[in-house]
This record gives sequence, C-alpha cells and structure tokens, in this order.
Amino acid sequence: MSALRSLILAAADSPGLQRFVQRYGFKLGAARFVAGESLDAAVPVLRRLNEQGLLTNTTLLGEGVGDEAETREVVASYRQLLDRIRAGGLRTNVALKLTHLGLSIDEELARRNLAELVGHAAGVGNFIRIDMEESRHVDATLRIYRALRESGHENVGAVLQSYLFRSEQDLAELLPLAPNLRLVKGAYLEPPEIAYPRKSDVDAAYVRLLEASLRGDGFTAVATHDEALIEHAISFADGHRIPRERFQFQMLYGVRSRLQLDLVRRGYDVLVATPYGPEWYRYLMRRLAERPANVLFLLRNLVRG
Ligand SMILES: Cc1cc2nc3c(=O)[nH]c(=O)nc-3n(C[C@H](O)[C@H](O)[C@H](O)COP(=O)(O)OP(=O)(O)OC[C@H]3O[C@@H](n4cnc5c(N)ncnc54)[C@H](O)[C@@H]3O)c2cc1C
Repeated sequence: MSALRSLILAAADSPGLQRFVQRYGFKLGAARFVAGESLDAAVPVLRRLNEQGLLTNTTLLGEGVGDEAETREVVASYRQLLDRIRAGGLRTNVALKLTHLGLSIDEELARRNLAELVGHAAGVGNFIRIDMEESRHVDATLRIYRALRESGHENVGAVLQSYLFRSEQDLAELLPLAPNLRLVKGAYLEPPEIAYPRKSDVDAAYVRLLEASLRGDGFTAVATHDEALIEHAISFADGHRIPRERFQFQMLYGVRSRLQLDLVRRGYDVLVATPYGPEWYRYLMRRLAERPANVLFLLRNLVRG
C-alpha cells in the first residue's frame, strides 16, 4: 500500500479534517462520487445511468452505528428505498454495510435487521449485497451471509477482498453455496500480518479469486476499474465457456465512466455503485485514498471555488 494511501486512510479519523471536509467537500467534489445527499437527489441519477444501459446499485451511506434505535431507522430507510426502486421501475439493487445495521453493537441485531431487509427485498423482487468492511468484521459478516443463505434466502450476496490472505480459503468454503460474490481488492487500512502490502500481490490474489469464483457455480461480480483484470476476466470466461449471465462488471459512480459504457457496448453487464446520503465523509476518504490524484481534484475545486 502506498504511503500516501495509508496517510489518507489514517487521517480520515481526525475530527478536524472531518469537520473541514464535511463543510466544503460536497460542493467541491464529493458530488463526483456520491449521487446526492438525499434519495430524491439520487433517483434521477440512478435513472440516467439506467437509461445509458448501466445497471446500478445504491447505498444509504453510513457505517459504525452504535445505537440500536438508530439501526431501526436505517432499516426503515432501506425499506422505503426498496419500495421506491420498485415504484420507479429502476434497474437498481441495494448494497449495505452491516455496521450500519448494528454489527458493532451485536451480531444478532445486525443479522435480524438484515434478514428483515432481505425478506422485504424478496417481496419487491430485489437483491441485497453485503459490503465487506474492516477485517475485524469479516468473520461475523460471512457467518451472517451463510446463515441467510442456509435459511433459504437467495437474493443476498457478499464481498471478498483480495488483499486479505484469508480470502482464498473463505472463497473455497463459500463455493458449495453457489454464492453471489463481489470481488474487490480492498479499501481499508490493514496490517501486513493479514493483508498483502504490495499492489502486485493484491492483483495476483485477485486473479486467483476471480478464476476460482468463475469456475464455481455461483455469480461473480468483478468489481474493479483495473483494465488488465477486466480483460483477464473476459478472456478467462471466453476460454472456459462461462456464460455472460454468470458474471458482471461493477465500478464506482464517478470512476472510469467511459470504460463502463465501452463494456456495455461490448455486450457485458455493468453495474455502477451509486451511493447517496448525508454521511458521505468516510466513503469519500476511501475514494481519495484509492487514487491520491483525487485529492488534487478536490483541492483544485477549492482554489477555483
Ligand atoms: C462496485 C465496487 C464495490 C466495492 N465494494 C467494496 C467493499 O465492499 N469493500 C471494500 O473493501 N472495497 C470495496 N470496493 C473498493 C475496492 O476494494 C478498491 O479499493 C477500489 O475498487 C480500487 O481498486 P481497483 O480494483 O479499481 O484497482 P486499482 O488498481 O486501485 O485501480 C485501477 C485504476 O482504476 C482507477 N481508479 C481506481 N480507484 C479510483 C478512484 N477512487 N478514483 C479514480 N480512479 C480510480 C485508476 O485509474 C487506477 O489506476 C469496491 C469497489 C467497487 C468498484
């Protein structure tokens, strides 16, 4: 991991920085990565992406909730969101974080909240992806995913991060479930005892996960902006006669938009992860850390502003 990336992720915890970015950040550049601060603002963005041939998912931004009553409000918001997607005929599913549903308070609370939402999503023909957060949450997240799948819920998926040493073993254990998995490189600050520090190792691990997942019986969401990995996925799928319905590409709103549309033109499904909500600070900081040039983008807007 580059020193700058680690620095940005570590600095994200500073209350002073958070105050500054939250005061100026949305107008100055966060809007490039976040569809709006409200659902009303996000819906037209989701619709426009759909009209361009892109699938979408959306997320009410937020994480690390420490109060049970607040998790119930989050559940209510997601129920409304699912109803709104249905009413608007959007080609949009939902991705959420278990710490937004109470995982930092109690695993059973998060499981219950998620089970309620997955049940509601099934009723309106939708699907919920559980994002993967910091490594300390991986065991509980995968336990909850497995419990839902084993109790008969099909409309739920999980995420594996290639920077973690453990992910290949996690994948092997999940494959018998024919899982719906999103593969990512990983966006958090993790120690070298459990995660590859070098980008080349993270990329190589991604290839191993990708091939193993595509060979399995589940669905693979290839979530990366890395063109070499995307082309590898395409040629591997071609070479192994893996039908296009068994995988899709996923990218972030505001990142490599032209590549997204090029892949649609080539006949692939592309989903754009398009979050919204007032709590966009931590999401933005992870986007800045992934590409420190994005910090310059924000600073340039600040100077121009
Ligand atoms: C749909 C989706 C869902 C995700 N969900 C999770 C999750 O649940 N848990 C998790 O830990 N991580 C998640 N991530 C983030 C992921 O772990 C990576 O941090 C992020 O995707 C950057 O890695 P990359 O694969 O694009 O490759 P990189 O090698 O980092 O980037 C490849 C190229 O993509 C471009 N690029 C990448 N990131 C940016 C950016 N922020 N701004 C501008 N250009 C950029 C650059 O041109 C770069 O050269 C998700 C990513 C996507 C696309």
